Amino acid sequence: MTRRLISQLVRDDFTTIPKYAPDAVVDVNLADNTNLWGTPPAAVAALAEAAVGGADAYPSPYGEALKAAVARTHDVPADCVVTGNGSDDLLDCAVRAFAAAGDVVAHPDPTFVMFPVFARINGLRPVAVPLTADHEMDADALLATGARIIYLCTPNNPTGTTTRRETVLRIIAEAPGLVIIDEAYAEFSRIESMLRQAPSLERVLVCRTMSKAYGLAGLRAGYGVGSRAIVDAVERSRGPYKLNAFAERASVAAMTHDADWVRVHAAEAVASRDRLVEELRKIGLAPLPSDTNFVCVPTARAAVFAAHARTRGLALRAFAGLPGIGPALRITAGPWPVMERVLASLRDTP
Ligand code: PMP
Repeated sequence: MTRRLISQLVRDDFTTIPKYAPDAVVDVNLADNTNLWGTPPAAVAALAEAAVGGADAYPSPYGEALKAAVARTHDVPADCVVTGNGSDDLLDCAVRAFAAAGDVVAHPDPTFVMFPVFARINGLRPVAVPLTADHEMDADALLATGARIIYLCTPNNPTGTTTRRETVLRIIAEAPGLVIIDEAYAEFSRIESMLRQAPSLERVLVCRTMSKAYGLAGLRAGYGVGSRAIVDAVERSRGPYKLNAFAERASVAAMTHDADWVRVHAAEAVASRDRLVEELRKIGLAPLPSDTNFVCVPTARAAVFAAHARTRGLALRAFAGLPGIGPALRITAGPWPVMERVLASLRDTP
């Protein structure tokens, strides 16, 4: 097909929508902040059992069993929970439900790269609001956009930094539209989560994922918590069957039977991260304070470090230039022997 014909067929603004391009994985993937201790055993067992039953039947339309498990785990009403094909799906469905084509949505910058992409796919106008000098969300500037949706990611990806609770509460109190609070890294964090409160708030959707601490990235499962009315709107936008039967079975098993496994390994990730930070400082690097299972290391040599690590079988994420931070390396915290390989690679980088 000629370039001219395709440009007549495809929506005009799609020519500049980026496709996600993660680093090639060689041996160990430290580039996407998954659980490097693996998958909870109860989830593995549930998958094996589900495989025996086959895959000929549709799952429940809206992931009722996972909603019930989330409700039990977090002590929230099940009809205040929405499930999705990863939390990516929840962001996509939420922006579509709460803003119409041409509307402004605001997000801190830098933050999770896919948020503005989902906004653009849905015809919205994302406005990037720089973080403050101490890597805080800038409440005044976010509110000044008058956006239909304000996205807050706390702890934030890729910085690893948290937002003060007063800032979050002020944005919720003063925002004219929906506030999405992305808590993808909450299990590693000391933040006071907004999840329990979300059902009683008028304009908040808290998003969580099964891809990080829960070790289920390959299955694609996530959930959001908000008021009944907010969840209902996201479900209308989502449509049925987004959460597949295998993802649901494994997620429910992990939440129901392996809460301790998740807690223990999240704590190990945090301990490993803290030790990694100390070692990085010893080699002259200055990682940002992290409240997640990864560290963000501003360094002019980010691309060189990542390229060398790749020759050692390690995928690290290099950012060419984060606003206000510059080039940076993001490294997922994993078992200490893997961290030693990372440190050796950084030390040896020519
Ligand atoms: N939010 C944040 C902040 C993330 O870092 C990620 C994954 N990198 C996601 C959402 C999406 O996670 P998933 O779709 O795997 O649930």
